[in-house]
Amino acid sequence: MNAVEAKNITFAYQNSKDVLNNVSFSVKEGEYVSLIGHNGSGKSTLSKILVGLIDDYKGEISLFGEVAKGEEARKLRERVGIVFQNPDNQFVGSTVADDIAFGLENRLVKHEEMQSIIEKYASETGMNEFLDRAPESLSGGQKQRVAIAGVLAMSPDLLILDEATAMLDPKGKNDILRLIKKAKEENPKLTILSITHDVEEALLSDQVIVLNKGDIILSGTPTEVFSNEDKLNEIGLELPFFYKVKKSLLDKGLIIPDDIKNLEQLEDFLCR
Ligand code: ADP
Repeated sequence: MNAVEAKNITFAYQNSKDVLNNVSFSVKEGEYVSLIGHNGSGKSTLSKILVGLIDDYKGEISLFGEVAKGEEARKLRERVGIVFQNPDNQFVGSTVADDIAFGLENRLVKHEEMQSIIEKYASETGMNEFLDRAPESLSGGQKQRVAIAGVLAMSPDLLILDEATAMLDPKGKNDILRLIKKAKEENPKLTILSITHDVEEALLSDQVIVLNKGDIILSGTPTEVFSNEDKLNEIGLELPFFYKVKKSLLDKGLIIPDDIKNLEQLEDFLCR
């Protein structure tokens, strides 16, 4: 089953030209897909359409096999969680615990049940010692972990990350990526759509979709997409570091097999 199916999506903001031109793609249930592209390519606009913040688009969005329109759309979107770029814009409660609880309160989850859900996700995101702290007093990475705890507490079937690591330092970013990996291991049916301009992050996903000026110009596995260096360079995207190394080894006559997919595996291969 497809968790997301976007068919012929076209959209323009008022008084502007099309920001998305007939965009179609699908994400299978349980898949981790990265949507990459330079600033201004239409990634955020697409995520806003997916979560229902923009609804005057042309085309059709289906979630979990059902067309997301009208009343049906609202129900389907209860199964979707989103984490945005700026953690400061996602806080509503006066403590970390209140923030994690916010979505649960809206769903009228019972108080006793709520407490154990808050503790579970605070501990999974490493924030259990901070439950009484004010969100403003946390670092960017900690804030983003709280945002993810709040979203995971709602047990979404689809998690959309809209540049969720863009404002974080390397440690904060790695913490978040580790959390996502763990959430996925715990629930293999969880579908992840990560919108990012970071090609290193895209390397971790099952599929990569490249958007440029509102058009999908490449899609496939990371290996398929990142074998198109010229096309990516043309639109201002560099290859991930691993592919740069792979290419320079190839230039020196060393062929790296396709089943070597990241730096760790490359190191093992070279040291064999
Ligand atoms: P990305 O997320 O890839 O950086 P966006 O979806 O934010 O791209 O933007 C795509 C295009 O739409 C850009 O040219 C941007 O200037 C324009 N745009 C974004 N938001 C608005 C808005 N609220 N009103 C008008 N134009 C916008």
